[in-house]
Amino acid sequence: MIFLLVFTFSLVLANAQKLMGFTDANATKQTDWEKQFDAQLNAQNLDTWLQFLSSHPHHVGSPQDKANAEYMASLFRSWGYQTEIASYYVLFPTPKSRLLELNGSKPYKAKLMETGVKEDKTTNQFSEQLPTYNAYSADGDVTAELVFVNRGIPADYEELDRMGIDVKGKIVIAKYGGSWRGIKPKVAYEHGAIGCIIYSDPEDDGYTQGDVYPEGPFRRPDGVQRGSVMDMPVYPGDPLTPGIGATKEAKRLDRKDAITIMKIPVLPISYEDALPLLQSLGGQTVPVTWRGSLPITYHVGPGKDKVHLKLEFNWDQKQLFDVIAKMPGSELPDEWIIRGNHHDGWVNGAADPLAGMVAVMEEARAIGELAKKGVRPKRTIIYCGWDGEEPALLGSTEWAEDHQQELQQKAVVYINSDGNGRGFINASGSHTLETFFNEITNEVIDPQTGVSIKERKYANAVVNADKAGRAKLLGNKYIKLGALGAGSDYSPFLQHLGIASINLGFGGENQGGEYHSIYDSYDLFVKFKDPGFQYGVALTKTAGRVTMRFANADVLPFDFSTFYKTVNDYATEVKTLLETTMAETETENKVIKERLYDLARDPKKTYKSPVAKETVPFLNFSSLENTLAQLKDSADAFQKLYNKSLQLSAAKQKELNDILYKAERSLIYVNGLPRRPWYKHEIYAPGYYTGYGVKTLPAIREAIEQGNWKEAQESIEIVAKSLQSYIQKVQQATGLLTPKAF
Ligand SMILES: [Zn+2]
Repeated sequence: MIFLLVFTFSLVLANAQKLMGFTDANATKQTDWEKQFDAQLNAQNLDTWLQFLSSHPHHVGSPQDKANAEYMASLFRSWGYQTEIASYYVLFPTPKSRLLELNGSKPYKAKLMETGVKEDKTTNQFSEQLPTYNAYSADGDVTAELVFVNRGIPADYEELDRMGIDVKGKIVIAKYGGSWRGIKPKVAYEHGAIGCIIYSDPEDDGYTQGDVYPEGPFRRPDGVQRGSVMDMPVYPGDPLTPGIGATKEAKRLDRKDAITIMKIPVLPISYEDALPLLQSLGGQTVPVTWRGSLPITYHVGPGKDKVHLKLEFNWDQKQLFDVIAKMPGSELPDEWIIRGNHHDGWVNGAADPLAGMVAVMEEARAIGELAKKGVRPKRTIIYCGWDGEEPALLGSTEWAEDHQQELQQKAVVYINSDGNGRGFINASGSHTLETFFNEITNEVIDPQTGVSIKERKYANAVVNADKAGRAKLLGNKYIKLGALGAGSDYSPFLQHLGIASINLGFGGENQGGEYHSIYDSYDLFVKFKDPGFQYGVALTKTAGRVTMRFANADVLPFDFSTFYKTVNDYATEVKTLLETTMAETETENKVIKERLYDLARDPKKTYKSPVAKETVPFLNFSSLENTLAQLKDSADAFQKLYNKSLQLSAAKQKELNDILYKAERSLIYVNGLPRRPWYKHEIYAPGYYTGYGVKTLPAIREAIEQGNWKEAQESIEIVAKSLQSYIQKVQQATGLLTPKAF
C-alpha cells in the first residue's frame, strides 16, 4: 500500500509542473500561457525593428531618437498597451570643437575621426553622427607634457610614484579597460593632472583579439570608444537635478555646482591617434603588465614634446523621450512588474542597446496579442524604453526619481536588459531571485545546442574554471546570480529605491570591438553578433518568463535563504579582506624596515621605496555576525513554510506579497552611503573607484580598502541595523503562515 501511494504521488508530480509561487492548478494555467507565448515569437520581428531603429544615429537630442520613441510607442499602442512618452529635460553636452596635437620635432594632429566602410550601409552617415568624445568632460585648453598611466586606476598611480613620476600639471594618457572610463579622469584629476586622454589599445578589442571590421568584428585602427565620464558612482541622472525628476519646472543646480561633471578635459581616441603620442614618450619603460600590443616600446614619459588638448562643448538642455507602456493587471493593478531596456545609442547602436530593446518589444507584443484573446496578467506590467542611458542613465533615473513615492508602494520587481548577443545567459540581481531564476533557466532551450540554457551555462563555467574551481562546480548545476554594480538602468530602481532587480542578457560568443563606435551597426550585428536573432528570441523567452511569472504568481517567488547565503558570503569576504590587509601590511612594513626594496632595485633606475603604512586594527564584526545568524534562522523558517502560503486566502496572500516585495526596501539606508547619499542600498553599489565593478557591502568594504577604520566600524553597525529591519519583515511574513492563519 505504501509503495502504491509513493508510486501514485510521483506520477502526480511528473504530470503537474510545479512552479515556484503557484498552486498546482494555477501552475498548469501558467504553463499553458507560456506555451502560447513561445508559439507567438517570431525572430523576423526583431530583425525588422532593429533595421528601423538602427537606420540612423539615435543619440539623445537627435531626430532619430525622437522618431524611434514614437515608432515604439505606436507599436506598443497597437499591441493594446496604455502608452505614453514621458519627457524630461536634461543637461547633455555635445562637442563644439576638439583639438589634440603633439608639438615638437615630430608634430602630429590627431584625426579624431572614424572612417566609413563600404560594406556597411550606415557607417557613412557622417553629418548625423556624434563626433568621438566623452560626455561631461570639462571645457579646457591645456598644453603640457604627457604621462602614460596604464589603466589610470589608483594602483597605477602608486606604481608611478615608485618610479618617481608625478602627474601634477601634466596630461595623462590611459588605456581603456580595467575600470569604468569615468574613473580614469577622476583619479587623474585627484593626482593633479590637467587633462586626460583615453585610447583603445588593440590588446583589448583590436587586432590582437581577432580580425578587424569588416573582415571580423574587432576595432579598426581609427575606431573610438565614445562614452560618458560623468562621476556616476556619486549619482547618475541629470547632473542638475539630483534626487528629483528633471521636469520642465524642476529646480536646477547651477552647472558649476554639479559635482558629477568632470573637472578636467577628457578625450577618447583611436590607437592610430594614440601611437604617435605614445612614441613621443621618454623616461623609463613601463612595468611588464602595463604593456599594450602596439609595435612599440611603451614608456611612462614624460616626453620632451608637449601635447595640446583643446575641448569646447555646447552645454545644452535636451529633451528625453522615455516610452512607458502599461497593461493594467486584471486583479492586482497596484502591483507593478517593470521591464525595461534603453533605446538611445551613441551612434547607430544595434548591439548596444537595440538588440535588447527588440527582445523586450517582442515580449510585449506576444503578451499583448494573448491579452487581446482574453489571457490577461493579474498584476500590472509596465514596459519601458529608456532614453539617455548612454550619457548617464538619464531616462530611467529621472523617471524613477519623478515617480519615487508611487514606485516605493507599487514596484514588485524591475527586470532589465541592455543589448544582447550569441552565447551564454548572464544574470545578475537581487539574491532573493536566485531560486526562481534557476527554475526558469531549466525551461529555456539554448538555440545552438538544444540543451537548456542552464546546462550550457554550467558547461561553460566548468570548462573555464581553474582546476580547484572545476572540482567545486562539477555536479552542481546552479546559476549563481552576480551582484549588480552600475552601468545600466537598474541602478535607480535597486540602489536608490530598494526595488528587487535583475539584469539579463546572452553573450560570450559575440565578441567584437564595435562598442560605442560607428561600427555598432545593423550590418555588423547580423553578421557577427546574433545571426538569425536566435538569441534575441531566447532573451524574449527568458525575460518573458520572469515577467509573466511575477505577473501571475499566487505568492511572489522570493527566497530569503539564498539572500542570507549570499550576504553571509559577502560578510566572510570583507572579514577576509581585513585579515589579508592586516597580514600584507605587516609583511610590507617589514620589507620596508629591512630596506629590502632599496637593496633589490636597479641602482641605475629611479625607484622610490614605499613608506611604511599604518598598522591595520582589528574591527568588531559581532553585531553583523549575530544579525546574520538571526537572518539565517528567520529565512530558513520562512522558506520551510513557503509552500503552505499557497493555501492562504487571496486577502492573506495579498498581505504576504506586500511584505515580500517590500522586504528589499529595508536594505535602503536613508542617509545613503558615505560621500554619496544617492546610493542607499546597503548590499550592492557601484565601486567608488571602480565604477562598473560592483562593491558588495559597499560601505564596509570600501572603508577597509581605503584604510578608513572608523568608518568601517560605523558601517558594520549600520548594515547590521538594516538587516535587523529586514529580519523583521521576514518574521512578519512567517507570522502569516502560522497554523491559526489558515
Ligand atoms: Zn547600453
